[in-house]
Parts: sequence; structure tokens; C-alpha cells
Amino acid sequence: MIKIARYTIFIDVNKCTGCYNCFLACRDEFYDNDYPPYSEGHPLKDHYWMQIKQIERGEYPKPKLDYIPLPCMHCQEAPCIEMAKEGAVYRREDGIVIIDPVKARGQRQIVNSCPYRVIFWNEEKQLPQKCTLCAHMLDQGEKEPKCVEACPTGALVFGDLDDPDSEVSRLVAETKSEVLYPEFGTEPLIKYAGIPRYFIAGEVVFKDNQGECAAGVKVSLAGNGVSMETRSDIYGDFEFEGLGKKTRYILTVEHEGYQPRQLELFTHKSINVGEVMLDPV
Ligand code: SF4
Ligand code: SF4
Repeated sequence: MIKIARYTIFIDVNKCTGCYNCFLACRDEFYDNDYPPYSEGHPLKDHYWMQIKQIERGEYPKPKLDYIPLPCMHCQEAPCIEMAKEGAVYRREDGIVIIDPVKARGQRQIVNSCPYRVIFWNEEKQLPQKCTLCAHMLDQGEKEPKCVEACPTGALVFGDLDDPDSEVSRLVAETKSEVLYPEFGTEPLIKYAGIPRYFIAGEVVFKDNQGECAAGVKVSLAGNGVSMETRSDIYGDFEFEGLGKKTRYILTVEHEGYQPRQLELFTHKSINVGEVMLDPV
């Protein structure tokens, strides 16, 4: 019997190391394995029901690499349901979106309906296929999907959003949880924390202090209606994370005994300003 709930995977991007254990666990469960009436086995190649998107930010010498696990979002306003004929894609009472492997045969248009690009075409079976949130396991009383079980860092947490005592409810309440690409307007059930934003980084250098790192220098950033402040670390490096897109910022670097510097920056991408040289007064 289907339990009334709203199931989610809470994905903490900061904890994902890109180890691919979730992807491998998913493939191991679904490659060539049928679970009627939930899903049919998928082929070995070209199906990524759990994708790991690599996001490169910044530039040398301060590049960053982030990993975003990406299963089906189990949208509550799902375009795939709209696009399917004869009810071939449906949403269960617990929120899980399922592609019916019998009714969906031959319905290639379902693949293109998904703005998240998480539906894959099985050429041999002429079938659109995707993550089922492991509904076949949950309905048998399993506590969590395969990918969640396999994650060694706790980046994936499964639970019921309608249960106020669940860990996912706590995480959603305590973190700034968000959905991926909210502009799609599909109301995903899958929640994220730590979705990478733009950053501004650099290094403070004292002109008269050759070889010495400019540690503890006050660096502030103002723009987008907020101001932030930090201190350069023992290497003279500084960084501001979580910045807005296409925003004008003023970066100010100041230290006693030195002339302050100001830079105007525009975040069309993450920025490494390089060395910010401070002249003595
Ligand atoms: S992420 Fe794509 S496949 Fe999943 S429910 Fe939303 S529209 Fe459908
Ligand atoms: S919930 Fe199940 S089907 Fe979905 S990505 Fe994880 S292992 Fe794969």
C-alpha cells in the first residue's frame, strides 16, 4: 500500500566529493533488472538515472570544482506528465513521478519534455526511462533508495517532507534549502543545499614587504544591497562565496600603514582578481 507522504532526497552539494558511488549503486540496481510495474531494466550505456554534474568555477590559480548529484526532481508540476499520452507518466500520492513502462512504450516525446534532461531513451525497448526514487524498494518497506544508501559522505538524505520529525524536514528548516533551477517552475520535491554560486577571490600583497604574506588584512565587499567583510588568511588570500549573478560589487582592501585600494567588479562569472598590491602611506 502507498503511504501518504512527500518523499524527497535532500542533497547537500558541499558534502558531495564526486565519488560516483550513487551513480554506480543506481546502475547496479536497474541495469538489466525489471521491477514491474515500476520500471524495466535499462541498458549499460547512455543511461544516467543519477547524474553527477561537474561545475567548474573561477580560474587559475583559484579554480573550484563542485559536483551536483542530479536524479529526477519528482516535480509536482511535471511537464513529463503533461506530455505523456494515456497517463503513461503519473505522480503517486507520495509525490514520486513514475513512467509506466508498458503505457510509455514508443512515446519518445516524453524524453524531451523534461527541462532537467533526466529522462533517457531506451532504443532497444523504445522506452523513456528515469529515476523512480526506488519506489519498488520503498513499497517493500526499505528505508531509503539505493543511491542514498551508497553515499559515504551523507550528501544524500532521504525522507518524508510531510513528517515534521524526519531528518529531511529538519534539514530543510535549518538550511537555506532550495530547488535546482527554480525558474523552470516545476516545483521539484528534490531539495538542495549549497548550490554553487559565483565567488570573488584574490590575494593581498604588501608592496614593501617582500616575501611576507599579507595576513589579517580587512577585505570588504559591497553590492546587491548587502555588504560582507573578511580577513586575508595566512597566505594573504581572501574569498567571498555565494554571490549574485551579473551584479556590480565594490571590493575594498584596507590595512593600517597602507593606502586602501578599491576595485569595481561585475560578476558575469566567478572572478579571481589576482594580486591586490597595497602601497605604504
Ligand atoms: S525532473 Fe523531469 S522527469 Fe522528473 S518529474 Fe520533473 S519533468 Fe518529469
Ligand atoms: S532514487 Fe533509485 S532510481 Fe533514483 S537515482 Fe537513486 S538509486 Fe537511482
